[in-house]
Amino acid sequence: MRYIADMHTHTVASTHAFSTITENAVWASKHGIRYLGMTDHGVAMQDAPDTWHFENLKILPDHLEGVRVFRGIEANILDSDGNTDIYPDKKEIYYGILEWVNVSMHLQTFTPSTKTEHTKAYINALKDPHVDVISHPDGVRYDYDFDEVARACAAYGRLIEVNECRLERGGASYDRYRQILGCCEKHCTSIIVSSDAHFYTHIGAFELADKLLTETGFPEELVVNADEERFLGYIKTRKERIGKNV
Ligand SMILES: [Zn+2]
Ligand SMILES: [Zn+2]
Repeated sequence: MRYIADMHTHTVASTHAFSTITENAVWASKHGIRYLGMTDHGVAMQDAPDTWHFENLKILPDHLEGVRVFRGIEANILDSDGNTDIYPDKKEIYYGILEWVNVSMHLQTFTPSTKTEHTKAYINALKDPHVDVISHPDGVRYDYDFDEVARACAAYGRLIEVNECRLERGGASYDRYRQILGCCEKHCTSIIVSSDAHFYTHIGAFELADKLLTETGFPEELVVNADEERFLGYIKTRKERIGKNV
């Protein structure tokens, strides 16, 4: 597949990442990535930028090096009610600016609980219309009902991520993604392939994810970033969902 977007990438604003947004955009531009999500960590993470970072994303131009840069976040799911570190008092400001929202669970910000609680957490997080993607849904510490979450994503029109960085780490990810993709195919849940790059050379490099999709025979029409028209169709739907002018 040919991928035109990478909607989960980090910059030096998260201190364990090492490239600037300009370096990221230059690389993306040279490697066929036309849409780039700048999604640094939500404020509850130790290495995350301050709220000022997100509030000031508005100063970025829409395009860098010809690449459309989406002002985004990787927000932390904090509890089984699906609350995230886009806190209630900041929602209005953040959502006036943010164009892309990945949500995920991290050890620093969500103490692993039961399968039922994790399932609830994911499904409740989707009730926020601004949430686009459940990121790295393969974590073994956060077991959940793959089938129920894939069904909820399909019902709410949201995306499940296949995360290249997790596949590179190995471990249980392959097996878990195989099961997750099976559920996505069953419910016609769209997915997105992302690098989760913490250094610019990883942007748009989806070798393992692509191999996995080929091996599992996953339907290309459900891969939202493998076709420009499909990706832009998702963006249009997203805008309608959050009540922005298309
Ligand atoms: Zn993460
Ligand atoms: Zn990340």
